[in-house]
Amino acid sequence: MGDSFPQVPQRFLVVLAPSALDGAVGGAALGSGVEGLGLEGALLHEELVGLLGPRKGHFRYESGHHGDLWLEIPRLYLRPDRLRRFAAALARQLAAHGVEAVCGPLIEGALLAQMVAEELDVEFYFAEQFARPRSDGLYPVGYRIPDALRPSARGKCAAIVDDVINAGSAVRGALADLQACGAKPVVLGALLVLGPPGPAFAAGVGVKLETLAHLPRALWEPLACPLCASGVLLEGGAKDGA
Ligand SMILES: [Zn+2]
Repeated sequence: MGDSFPQVPQRFLVVLAPSALDGAVGGAALGSGVEGLGLEGALLHEELVGLLGPRKGHFRYESGHHGDLWLEIPRLYLRPDRLRRFAAALARQLAAHGVEAVCGPLIEGALLAQMVAEELDVEFYFAEQFARPRSDGLYPVGYRIPDALRPSARGKCAAIVDDVINAGSAVRGALADLQACGAKPVVLGALLVLGPPGPAFAAGVGVKLETLAHLPRALWEPLACPLCASGVLLEGGAKDGA
C-alpha cells in the first residue's frame, strides 16, 4: 500500500504554498512555517514527510476518530540526530512567542518537546496519559502533568509540542492540564499538522500554532465514517500518536 504514495513529497510541497494555507488558518498563525521557505527548508520538509511513510487505508486514531491516512510516527525517533534538526527548526519558530516552558504529551510527543525545550533553554514538562472512557468513544485518553512538576508550571507562558497534530486529542489534553496547573499556554508546536482540526482548535482556545508542515487528510467520527458505511475493514491497531 505504501507503494501507492510515491508522489507524497511533491504533493506536500504544493500544500506548503502560502495560498493553500490562507483558508486553513486565520492570520499568520502558520505563516512563519511557510514564508521564506528556501531550498534548505523545502528539503527539510520533504525529508520529514518521507520519514513518516504515509499510507492510505481505513484507520482508527487515538482520539477515536476514523481516517484514511496512516503515518509511521515512531520512525521520526529512530535517529535522534536527524530529529534534532527538525526540533531546532520548530524551536526557532516558537522562540517568537516568549515561551518560558515546553510541555509534551507522552510518549512520543514528549521526546520531541524535550529537544525543543533544550533548544530554547527553558523548562520542560511531560503530560502522562490516563484512561478516560466516554460513551461516544471520542477522546478516550486524558493527559496529566506529574505532581512534582506542577508547581513549576504556575504562571509560565508555555508551548505545547507534539510531533503530529491530527484530531488534536494529545495537545488538547496537555493544554487543559497546563491551565489546571496555572500555566498560560500561548502556542502549539508540531512538526506536522494534518487537516483542519488542529488549526481550528488553536483558534478556538486563542493560542498560536507553529508547524513545519501541513498535510490534508480526511477525519470522521466513527458513526459518520464513509469507509465504515461502505464496509471497508479497519487496518492496523488503535495505536496512533496523532
Ligand atoms: Zn471507519
